[in-house]
Amino acid sequence: MMADRKPLISGNWKMNQNHFEAIQLVQKLSYALTKDDITAVDVSIHPPFTDLRSVQTVLEADKIPIALGAQNCHWEASGAFTGEVSPAMLQKLNVSYVICGHSERRQLFGETNEDVNKKVKAILKHEMTPIMACGETLEQRESGEMEDHIVDQVLEGLAGVKKDAVGGLVIAYEPIWAIGTGMTATPDDAQQMCAFIRQTVEEKFGAAAAKAVRIQYGGSVKPGTAPELMNQPDIDGALIGGASLSAEDFAHCIQYRLR
Ligand code: PEP
Repeated sequence: MMADRKPLISGNWKMNQNHFEAIQLVQKLSYALTKDDITAVDVSIHPPFTDLRSVQTVLEADKIPIALGAQNCHWEASGAFTGEVSPAMLQKLNVSYVICGHSERRQLFGETNEDVNKKVKAILKHEMTPIMACGETLEQRESGEMEDHIVDQVLEGLAGVKKDAVGGLVIAYEPIWAIGTGMTATPDDAQQMCAFIRQTVEEKFGAAAAKAVRIQYGGSVKPGTAPELMNQPDIDGALIGGASLSAEDFAHCIQYRLR
């Protein structure tokens, strides 16, 4: 991790925790973290939509310095989109980060790079930070299509975004074969792909954007694997699913520098 990019460790709770459980989890997490942890690392948590208001209330009432995040949003600010949640609604709840293009959304709900691009722009327009996820399948890795696939996801996802805005974004590199499988990419493989993403950003958006953009690794990050991953020069944080559902494990990932 380069000194001038503050790491961001994000907990993606996926479709887990009702709003009572969410309050307990965030309180436990706040007890497990020290002031130093939060000074060294930015932390965001991404509960399901139904928990956001409850979690926001706890974070704000107890002055817990953890950023509120969402897992997805629509690109329109309002309208006839049954079942969707708008970026304007998230902004009103003081959401700071919104994940878009998670592989589960792409694979299970048919989200395309074009959809992700509309979401990235809408999230920025509503003054929140997108965490744009990208990643290859095992087949794509083994057949040598991995790099082209990542370039398409990154460039199509960021099409039309201004250079200055790109520097403020977060990109999460999440190899699909590593998500929820217990198979973490090796620190070298993860570093290589995060460096490749940074180079892709540099070629399209320039050196300043590439130097500033934060690139997370995601895929079965656990307390035991976090330190070596986080010590790689192009890995600026982690997007964590399973391990973020345990306050203790998530806190230990955030405390990677002590391990
Ligand atoms: C994720 O949800 O983005 C993720 C990486 O999950 P897990 O840590 O469980 O692999």
